[in-house]
Amino acid sequence: MNDRKSRFLMIVGFVVGILVMALGLISESERLLAVFMIAGSVIFFAALIQACIFYRCPHCNHSLMHVRGGIPDYCPNCGKELTE
Ligand SMILES: [Zn+2]
Repeated sequence: MNDRKSRFLMIVGFVVGILVMALGLISESERLLAVFMIAGSVIFFAALIQACIFYRCPHCNHSLMHVRGGIPDYCPNCGKELTE
């Protein structure tokens, strides 16, 4: 797992997790709502947790979670290039 794959998985997980929760909200049954809410939350948090673990600078292991607007070209901590 590298930082780019991890970031991609995080975004996909957020989108899928929210979509699953939205599906629950439009479902008629309360039981389905609960199932979709739990499943959506699990997907959402799994995406977040893997990003906390893997979305890091490959050189100094500094987390890139707080960096806004895509993957930076250079690590904000050690200044090394983040391209592969
Ligand atoms: Zn670094």
